[in-house]
Amino acid sequence: MIPYRPEPFTNFKDAAEEEAFRTQLQKAAQSLGQEYPLVIDGKRVMTDEKIVSRNPSRKAEVIGYSAKATQQHAEEAMQSAYRVLQSWARTSSRERAGVLFKAAAILRRRKHEFSAWLVLEAGKSRAEADADTAEAIDFMEYYARQMIEMDETSAKKLVSIPGEDNDLRYIPLGVGVVIPPWNFPLAIMVGMTTASIVAGNTVVLKPASTTPVIAYKFYEILEDAGMPAGVVQLIPGSGAEIGDFLVEHKLTRYVAFTGSREVGLRIFELASKTSSGQLWLKRFIGELGGKDSIVVDRDADLEAAARGIVVSAFNFSGQKCSACSRAIIVDEVYDQVLERVVELTKALTVGDASDPRFDTGPVIDEHAYQRILQYIETGKGEGRLMCGGGPGSEEGYFILPTIFADVSPDAVIMKEEIFGPVLGFTRARDFKHALEIANNTEYGLTGAVYSRNRSHLELARSEFHVGNLYFNRKCTGAIVGVHPFGGFNMSGTDSKAGGPDYLLQFTQPKLVSEQL
Ligand code: NAD
Repeated sequence: MIPYRPEPFTNFKDAAEEEAFRTQLQKAAQSLGQEYPLVIDGKRVMTDEKIVSRNPSRKAEVIGYSAKATQQHAEEAMQSAYRVLQSWARTSSRERAGVLFKAAAILRRRKHEFSAWLVLEAGKSRAEADADTAEAIDFMEYYARQMIEMDETSAKKLVSIPGEDNDLRYIPLGVGVVIPPWNFPLAIMVGMTTASIVAGNTVVLKPASTTPVIAYKFYEILEDAGMPAGVVQLIPGSGAEIGDFLVEHKLTRYVAFTGSREVGLRIFELASKTSSGQLWLKRFIGELGGKDSIVVDRDADLEAAARGIVVSAFNFSGQKCSACSRAIIVDEVYDQVLERVVELTKALTVGDASDPRFDTGPVIDEHAYQRILQYIETGKGEGRLMCGGGPGSEEGYFILPTIFADVSPDAVIMKEEIFGPVLGFTRARDFKHALEIANNTEYGLTGAVYSRNRSHLELARSEFHVGNLYFNRKCTGAIVGVHPFGGFNMSGTDSKAGGPDYLLQFTQPKLVSEQL
């Protein structure tokens, strides 16, 4: 087995790559408006009621019509997953990993096709879509190797004593309910789903309602890779209608959720109550929101800092859990950094994500659009508007990259996750004060520090309380295996997707000791 290596990103300046991508984009654009079923026990199920997936860049354009699961479907999906668990849990880790290796190879061959659908369904720029697809490939390559390694080395880590044969195995948990968000509709869905199945669990997957088409297309890859029927059930549906039902179900062994703090806390609470007939304590694996800061010290490379802030705040219109929404700048360099960030931001162009002339695209849907605009109105009362401050073209859900200066560290826009292209600047007296401000939210996901001062970097290393801390670089763009990803406090259950311990959460260790 060759060692894991992250999937390289596509160089769109290469004419052949550009052409190959454009062809896939055209192909996808010619295949819009199709119907996509649920899949339960490998069987396709159509429903009368549909989820309509729209292109956020062109509201009028329908990407596809997805079947919409009812509670009855959710019940059938749970029963199927439980039935199939009995055989899948007993397959070898190498066999299960084999499905992931094959799925990764298929996705690699069809990389541009998937990225094209991400551009259309999620409003990602081609580079952002390419990174999403690459990350999905990485998760499969990484978790497949990790499962094999865990299986083959766990017993060797035990202390051996004479006269006994001792064996430690990581066995599956059971049926997992997997609930991903729309913002990494491929990578995060793939990560949580394939971590589950490679560990021997079976899955009921409820994708995000704004991105069901990409979920269905990935399900087809799993089938092509040889995944047996019923290992994953795909049931798009309303969180309110089937979400609680799945979480509360007595056969649910764990919930793997990535999404907002609000929904995550609800699931955490529901999952902690035992249902009649339930035999286990449900596990909650949660990756939640963020309110991420970049701190700039007085002796930092200010140009690098300004560029890092702009990329972290506005790529994909700020719709990343890791996006920078707080720029905390030490007093001496505050005006200089602010001025440069505003200048760079004013140069950003906003428009149709499929058009490479635009730097950033839309936000995901009407609900997000209205919510972000409301936050911008709040910001107008809390800071000095420097640029943006309202909608872009009305053809899609476009919002101009918005910066507020001189915002109090305790302002609403500095504390609540906005999940859009809104950045607040706040002035710190000195570096220590900057770190205090950086730690003043209930989240703890990502953060970055720009400084050339070694003792300040070391202070940040120990005091800046976030799961992913970056020095002298942007705070977005974690790579599987290289930057294991996940946050503290209200940002989640302190685990690391794409890290060496991730699969432990999807397994339970069993010890067998035999007297010789
Ligand atoms: P969301 O919480 O609105 O939805 C997430 C998922 O939960 C969706 O599939 C949704 O349909 C489902 N859902 C909604 N109500 C439910 C219910 N009652 N029961 C069960 N499921 C329910 O989040 P979103 O808008 O899809 O994603 C954006 C959020 O995700 C942001 O807060 C972002 O920070 C967070 N996020 C975190 C990470 C991370 O690694 N920490 C990564 C990506 C996104």
